[in-house]
Amino acid sequence: ETTHFGFKKVATEEKEALVGEVFTAVAAKYDLMNDMMSGGVHRLWKRHFVATSGIHQGDLVLDLAGGTGDIAKLLMPQIGKQGKVIIGDINQAMLDVGNDRMIDAGFMGRFECIQMNAEKLPFEDNSIDAITMAFGLRNVTNKQQALNEMYRVLKPSGKAMVLEFSKVNSSVLKKLYHFYSFKILPEIGHFVANDRDSYQYLVESIEQHPDQETLKSMFERAGLEMCGYENLSGGIVAIHQGYKL
Ligand code: SAM
Repeated sequence: ETTHFGFKKVATEEKEALVGEVFTAVAAKYDLMNDMMSGGVHRLWKRHFVATSGIHQGDLVLDLAGGTGDIAKLLMPQIGKQGKVIIGDINQAMLDVGNDRMIDAGFMGRFECIQMNAEKLPFEDNSIDAITMAFGLRNVTNKQQALNEMYRVLKPSGKAMVLEFSKVNSSVLKKLYHFYSFKILPEIGHFVANDRDSYQYLVESIEQHPDQETLKSMFERAGLEMCGYENLSGGIVAIHQGYKL
Protein backbone atom coordinates (compact mmCIF):
# COMPACT_ATOMS: atom_id res chain seq x y z
CA GLU A 1 0.00 0.00 0.00
CA THR A 2 1.32 3.45 -0.86
CA THR A 3 0.44 6.96 0.26
CA HIS A 4 -0.69 9.84 -1.89
CA PHE A 5 2.96 10.75 -2.46
CA GLY A 6 3.85 7.23 -3.52
CA PHE A 7 5.69 6.24 -0.36
CA LYS A 8 5.24 2.77 0.99
CA LYS A 9 2.89 2.73 3.98
CA VAL A 10 4.45 1.45 7.17
CA ALA A 11 2.53 -1.27 8.97
CA THR A 12 1.58 -0.39 12.53
CA GLU A 13 3.79 -3.06 14.11
CA GLU A 14 6.81 -1.81 12.20
CA LYS A 15 6.00 1.72 13.06
CA GLU A 16 7.17 1.84 16.68
CA ALA A 17 10.52 0.28 15.82
CA LEU A 18 10.91 2.73 12.96
CA VAL A 19 10.08 5.75 15.14
CA GLY A 20 12.81 4.63 17.49
CA GLU A 21 15.32 4.28 14.71
CA VAL A 22 14.40 7.50 12.99
CA PHE A 23 14.88 9.58 16.09
CA THR A 24 18.01 7.79 17.25
CA ALA A 25 19.53 8.42 13.84
CA VAL A 26 18.67 12.11 13.87
CA ALA A 27 18.95 13.07 17.57
CA ALA A 28 22.26 14.90 17.21
CA LYS A 29 21.33 16.68 13.99
CA TYR A 30 17.76 17.28 14.96
CA ASP A 31 17.92 21.06 15.43
CA LEU A 32 19.92 21.69 12.30
CA MET A 33 17.42 19.64 10.35
CA ASN A 34 14.47 21.49 11.81
CA ASP A 35 16.03 24.82 10.93
CA MET A 36 16.83 23.78 7.40
CA MET A 37 13.47 22.18 6.78
CA SER A 38 11.35 25.00 8.14
CA GLY A 39 13.67 27.91 7.37
CA GLY A 40 13.82 28.55 11.11
CA VAL A 41 10.06 29.07 11.35
CA HIS A 42 9.66 26.14 13.77
CA ARG A 43 11.25 28.41 16.39
CA LEU A 44 8.48 30.99 15.92
CA TRP A 45 5.78 28.33 16.05
CA LYS A 46 7.23 26.95 19.28
CA ARG A 47 7.57 30.38 20.86
CA HIS A 48 3.98 31.21 19.99
CA PHE A 49 2.85 27.83 21.31
CA VAL A 50 4.40 28.47 24.73
CA ALA A 51 3.58 32.19 24.87
CA THR A 52 -0.14 31.52 24.30
CA SER A 53 -0.26 28.43 26.52
CA GLY A 54 -1.59 30.21 29.58
CA ILE A 55 0.75 28.11 31.70
CA HIS A 56 1.17 29.63 35.16
CA GLN A 57 4.06 30.30 37.50
CA GLY A 58 4.56 27.27 39.71
CA ASP A 59 2.90 24.79 37.35
CA LEU A 60 4.03 21.22 36.98
CA VAL A 61 4.16 20.75 33.21
CA LEU A 62 4.64 17.55 31.27
CA ASP A 63 6.26 18.18 27.91
CA LEU A 64 5.49 15.04 25.96
CA ALA A 65 7.71 13.98 23.08
CA GLY A 66 9.93 16.63 24.61
CA GLY A 67 12.89 15.32 22.65
CA THR A 68 15.68 17.82 22.60
CA GLY A 69 14.17 20.17 25.18
CA ASP A 70 13.06 22.97 22.84
CA ILE A 71 9.68 23.44 24.47
CA ALA A 72 10.96 22.79 27.99
CA LYS A 73 13.50 25.61 27.64
CA LEU A 74 10.81 28.02 26.51
CA LEU A 75 8.57 26.93 29.38
CA MET A 76 11.06 27.76 32.12
CA PRO A 77 10.42 31.55 32.37
CA GLN A 78 6.71 30.86 32.18
CA ILE A 79 6.65 28.47 35.16
CA GLY A 80 9.23 30.37 37.17
CA LYS A 81 11.47 29.06 39.95
CA GLN A 82 8.62 27.23 41.67
CA GLY A 83 7.54 25.40 38.55
CA LYS A 84 8.81 22.12 37.22
CA VAL A 85 8.96 20.49 33.80
CA ILE A 86 8.97 16.79 33.14
CA ILE A 87 10.35 16.03 29.69
CA GLY A 88 8.83 12.77 28.55
CA ASP A 89 9.98 10.98 25.42
CA ILE A 90 10.00 7.42 24.18
CA ASN A 91 13.54 7.77 22.86
CA GLN A 92 16.46 7.89 25.28
CA ALA A 93 18.87 9.39 22.70
CA MET A 94 16.56 12.39 22.29
CA LEU A 95 16.18 12.71 26.08
CA ASP A 96 19.96 12.66 26.53
CA VAL A 97 20.34 15.60 24.16
CA GLY A 98 17.52 17.44 25.96
CA ASN A 99 19.03 16.75 29.36
CA ASP A 100 22.43 18.17 28.33
CA ARG A 101 20.85 21.26 26.81
CA MET A 102 18.71 21.98 29.85
CA ILE A 103 21.73 21.67 32.15
CA ASP A 104 23.81 23.90 29.84
CA ALA A 105 21.00 26.46 29.95
CA GLY A 106 21.22 26.47 33.76
CA PHE A 107 17.99 24.67 34.57
CA MET A 108 19.45 21.93 36.73
CA GLY A 109 17.03 20.81 39.45
CA ARG A 110 14.02 22.39 37.75
CA PHE A 111 13.35 19.65 35.24
CA GLU A 112 13.46 15.91 34.91
CA CYS A 113 13.76 13.64 31.87
CA ILE A 114 11.72 10.45 31.93
CA GLN A 115 11.52 7.87 29.19
CA MET A 116 7.87 7.11 28.53
CA ASN A 117 5.36 6.18 25.90
CA ALA A 118 2.66 8.84 25.43
CA GLU A 119 0.15 6.01 25.19
CA LYS A 120 0.84 4.88 28.74
CA LEU A 121 1.87 7.74 30.99
CA PRO A 122 3.66 6.75 34.20
CA PHE A 123 1.65 9.17 36.39
CA GLU A 124 -1.30 8.99 38.70
CA ASP A 125 -4.68 10.40 37.75
CA ASN A 126 -5.11 14.15 38.34
CA SER A 127 -1.43 14.88 38.93
CA ILE A 128 -0.24 17.33 36.23
CA ASP A 129 -1.15 21.02 35.73
CA ALA A 130 -0.54 21.24 32.00
CA ILE A 131 0.67 19.05 29.16
CA THR A 132 2.42 20.26 26.02
CA MET A 133 3.25 18.09 23.04
CA ALA A 134 5.03 19.64 20.06
CA PHE A 135 5.53 17.70 16.86
CA GLY A 136 5.08 14.46 18.71
CA LEU A 137 1.48 13.29 18.42
CA ARG A 138 1.75 12.33 14.76
CA ASN A 139 4.44 9.80 15.66
CA VAL A 140 2.26 8.03 18.20
CA THR A 141 0.64 4.83 16.98
CA ASN A 142 -2.60 5.17 18.94
CA LYS A 143 -3.23 8.92 19.07
CA GLN A 144 -6.60 8.65 20.74
CA GLN A 145 -5.02 6.60 23.51
CA ALA A 146 -2.39 9.33 24.01
CA LEU A 147 -5.12 11.96 24.34
CA ASN A 148 -7.06 9.74 26.76
CA GLU A 149 -3.92 9.45 28.86
CA MET A 150 -3.41 13.22 28.86
CA TYR A 151 -6.92 13.62 30.12
CA ARG A 152 -6.42 11.02 32.83
CA VAL A 153 -3.26 12.51 34.33
CA LEU A 154 -4.33 16.17 34.12
CA LYS A 155 -5.59 17.81 37.28
CA PRO A 156 -9.10 19.22 37.11
CA SER A 157 -8.82 22.60 35.30
CA GLY A 158 -5.58 21.35 33.72
CA LYS A 159 -4.90 21.96 30.07
CA ALA A 160 -3.61 19.83 27.18
CA MET A 161 -1.93 21.51 24.21
CA VAL A 162 -0.71 19.95 21.00
CA LEU A 163 1.39 21.71 18.35
CA GLU A 164 1.46 19.61 15.23
CA PHE A 165 1.53 19.67 11.46
CA SER A 166 -1.98 19.99 10.13
CA LYS A 167 -3.79 20.65 6.87
CA VAL A 168 -3.21 23.82 4.86
CA ASN A 169 -6.36 25.71 4.04
CA SER A 170 -5.69 27.30 0.65
CA SER A 171 -5.24 25.39 -2.60
CA VAL A 172 -2.29 27.53 -3.69
CA LEU A 173 -0.48 26.91 -0.45
CA LYS A 174 -1.40 23.24 -0.68
CA LYS A 175 0.32 22.95 -4.07
CA LEU A 176 3.44 24.75 -2.90
CA TYR A 177 3.56 22.71 0.26
CA HIS A 178 3.18 19.40 -1.55
CA PHE A 179 5.91 20.38 -3.99
CA TYR A 180 8.15 21.26 -1.07
CA SER A 181 7.39 18.05 0.83
CA PHE A 182 7.77 15.82 -2.15
CA LYS A 183 10.62 17.39 -4.09
CA ILE A 184 12.69 19.54 -1.78
CA LEU A 185 12.43 18.01 1.67
CA PRO A 186 13.84 14.58 0.74
CA GLU A 187 16.78 16.35 -0.90
CA ILE A 188 17.47 18.33 2.25
CA GLY A 189 17.23 15.09 4.21
CA HIS A 190 19.62 13.37 1.89
CA PHE A 191 22.03 16.28 2.07
CA VAL A 192 21.98 16.93 5.83
CA ALA A 193 21.46 13.48 7.28
CA ASN A 194 22.20 11.25 4.29
CA ASP A 195 18.94 9.63 5.22
CA ARG A 196 16.00 9.55 2.84
CA ASP A 197 13.99 7.07 4.92
CA SER A 198 13.58 9.51 7.79
CA TYR A 199 12.21 12.10 5.42
CA GLN A 200 9.85 9.71 3.78
CA TYR A 201 8.65 8.84 7.24
CA LEU A 202 8.27 12.53 8.10
CA VAL A 203 6.24 13.39 5.01
CA GLU A 204 4.13 10.29 5.43
CA SER A 205 3.40 10.91 9.09
CA ILE A 206 2.32 14.47 8.29
CA GLU A 207 0.12 13.27 5.48
CA GLN A 208 -1.58 10.67 7.67
CA HIS A 209 -2.13 12.98 10.63
CA PRO A 210 -5.77 13.95 11.28
CA ASP A 211 -6.93 17.36 10.07
CA GLN A 212 -7.90 20.20 12.43
CA GLU A 213 -11.54 19.24 12.97
CA THR A 214 -10.79 15.53 13.32
CA LEU A 215 -8.13 16.15 15.93
CA LYS A 216 -10.46 18.50 17.77
CA SER A 217 -13.11 15.78 17.92
CA MET A 218 -10.48 13.36 19.23
CA PHE A 219 -9.72 15.84 22.03
CA GLU A 220 -13.42 15.87 22.83
CA ARG A 221 -13.65 12.09 22.72
CA ALA A 222 -10.85 11.95 25.30
CA GLY A 223 -13.09 13.95 27.65
CA LEU A 224 -11.40 17.32 27.20
CA GLU A 225 -13.65 20.35 27.15
CA MET A 226 -13.62 23.84 25.64
CA CYS A 227 -11.57 22.35 22.83
CA GLY A 228 -10.33 24.52 20.00
CA TYR A 229 -7.45 25.14 17.65
CA GLU A 230 -5.45 27.91 16.09
CA ASN A 231 -3.89 27.60 12.63
CA LEU A 232 -0.37 28.93 12.13
CA SER A 233 1.20 29.61 8.74
CA GLY A 234 -2.04 28.88 6.90
CA GLY A 235 -2.58 25.57 8.64
CA ILE A 236 0.86 24.08 7.98
CA VAL A 237 0.76 23.64 11.73
CA ALA A 238 -2.05 24.03 14.27
CA ILE A 239 -2.25 24.36 18.04
CA HIS A 240 -5.04 22.30 19.60
CA GLN A 241 -6.05 22.73 23.18
CA GLY A 242 -8.57 21.42 25.63
CA TYR A 243 -9.24 21.48 29.36
CA LYS A 244 -10.06 18.84 31.89
CA LEU A 245 -12.88 20.49 33.80
N1 SAM B 1 9.06 18.33 20.95
C1 SAM B 1 10.33 18.37 20.23
C2 SAM B 1 10.32 19.51 19.25
O1 SAM B 1 9.27 20.10 19.05
O2 SAM B 1 11.36 19.82 18.69
C3 SAM B 1 10.65 17.04 19.54
C4 SAM B 1 9.72 16.60 18.44
S1 SAM B 1 10.31 15.21 17.57
C5 SAM B 1 9.76 15.58 15.93
C6 SAM B 1 9.23 13.92 18.00
C7 SAM B 1 9.57 13.22 19.29
O3 SAM B 1 8.50 12.34 19.62
C8 SAM B 1 10.82 12.36 19.24
O4 SAM B 1 11.71 12.78 20.24
C9 SAM B 1 10.30 10.95 19.51
O5 SAM B 1 11.20 10.14 20.22
C10 SAM B 1 9.04 11.23 20.28
N2 SAM B 1 8.03 10.17 20.29
C11 SAM B 1 7.63 9.42 19.25
N3 SAM B 1 6.68 8.55 19.62
C12 SAM B 1 6.47 8.74 20.96
C13 SAM B 1 5.63 8.13 21.93
N4 SAM B 1 4.79 7.16 21.61
N5 SAM B 1 5.68 8.59 23.20
C14 SAM B 1 6.53 9.58 23.53
N6 SAM B 1 7.35 10.19 22.67
C15 SAM B 1 7.34 9.77 21.39
